[in-house]
Amino acid sequence: MNNEIPNLVDSAVAEMAKCEAELVAQILAEDLTPSGIQSIAEQAAEFAETAASQIAGSAFKASCKAGCNWCCYQPVRVTPPEVFRIVRFIRSLPVKTQDQLTSQIRESVRPAMAQNTDIQNKAGTPCPFLDTSSSNAGSANTGLCGIYAVRPLACAEFNSNNVKDCKKGSQKGFQATMVTRERSRVLIYKAVQQGLMRGLTQALPDVENSVFNLANAVLIALENPDTEAAWLKGLPVFTQET
Ligand code: SF4
Repeated sequence: MNNEIPNLVDSAVAEMAKCEAELVAQILAEDLTPSGIQSIAEQAAEFAETAASQIAGSAFKASCKAGCNWCCYQPVRVTPPEVFRIVRFIRSLPVKTQDQLTSQIRESVRPAMAQNTDIQNKAGTPCPFLDTSSSNAGSANTGLCGIYAVRPLACAEFNSNNVKDCKKGSQKGFQATMVTRERSRVLIYKAVQQGLMRGLTQALPDVENSVFNLANAVLIALENPDTEAAWLKGLPVFTQET
């Protein structure tokens, strides 16, 4: 009997990934353009959040709230459709905000590239999209995510029931079991990300289809307006990054 419950969970996760893959393939069968790519990123985010909210266990009391951002001090990896959605969002912002975000990303990416290390792999390094002008540290910042409306699946997946554990993770590096997270949420978001990538492979077998470092991939696409067109042609646009 005990073995049946994990099997049921595995089956539900596999079914969710399959469902997501079919939705992605269906969208791209009708629209193999940047607009279709935007649609699959939007659909994946909506699907994951809707499912996670509906299945959320009442026993899990998340401590997450606006302005609490200790979880934003760890590497984030994203799929290409999410990268292009984020870039489109940034380009829709006021020019001053665009320039500020781009310069924050450059400041985060360049030193890591110079040292040939992964970005944000050091504990205590905030995500470049985070407004740290004040944050948890005190002073007068907002502590908010500058791309919250289009934040990656990997970010939306994260929640915690203990702020102290998150703070420790931000300072010492997040270890696998350091933070207690809502398991159903983690499984749902992982299933949707897997399904997104599987559907992408079915529809566009030649494109670069992996997860990439958020800051580096977004900077590449921001600095080269032809990135999405080149990616759709199957060119390796992100693989040169760390
Ligand atoms: S993208 Fe936003 S939510 Fe994700 S780590 Fe960066 S600041 Fe935090």
